[in-house]
Amino acid sequence: MRPPSQGIGMTSQRTRDRLVERLRQKGIRNNTVLEVIGSTPRHLFVDEALASRAYEDTALPIGHGQTISQPYIVARMTELVLEVAPRRVLEVGTGSGYQAAILARLVDKVYSTERIEALASQARQRFRQLGYRNIRVQHSDGCMGWPQFGPFDAIIVTAGGADIPTALLEQLAVGGRLVMPLGDRSRQILVSVTRTPTVYERVDLEPVVFVPLLGGAG
Ligand code: SAH
Repeated sequence: MRPPSQGIGMTSQRTRDRLVERLRQKGIRNNTVLEVIGSTPRHLFVDEALASRAYEDTALPIGHGQTISQPYIVARMTELVLEVAPRRVLEVGTGSGYQAAILARLVDKVYSTERIEALASQARQRFRQLGYRNIRVQHSDGCMGWPQFGPFDAIIVTAGGADIPTALLEQLAVGGRLVMPLGDRSRQILVSVTRTPTVYERVDLEPVVFVPLLGGAG
């Protein structure tokens, strides 16, 4: 694991420990993931007005009609991709940057794409301030992947769509895994797709709620 860890007071450490305990109760088993969540300052990834709620296990608004994902789902997607021991990970939907920040402490390099320019530049600035050096952010339509840096050992899509974008399947390395919410707003399921030398193996996991995956860079 790598830094950064922010100086924090006792009270907020207790608050974070409670969040970690909650995630454990909900079934997150990977201790390394729990440790990283417990030492990542989620309050710095939301607006100051919402900082007091940052260690609740809920999604929170980040402006532009988008949300920072619920910690449980960040932990779940992270532990699912870690099963294939990825070194280079692509994220579609940078949003606040929180998921990318969690990944950045567990893998070598994170490539993250975001279609809303203001969110992409805010996340970039956050990473700089917090000292994350292994995250690269691009303002683009993540459905196209990031061909220049592919193939990726793992791909995490943090917005829900009806289908898995073909470009993402193409940019997934053999032995790699993609995790994504599939479906529309009324019914979404988290799926995991593992690429073998011959096929893509899909496993349907659990119902989830994500903002929609949209086409084009807004
Ligand atoms: N991973 C984020 C979650 C943000 S919500 C976090 O930890 O905070 C999902 C994000 O996906 C939104 O910011 C939305 O703008 C973005 N998004 C939706 N469709 C996209 C697309 N086609 N390409 C890139 N980003 C997209």
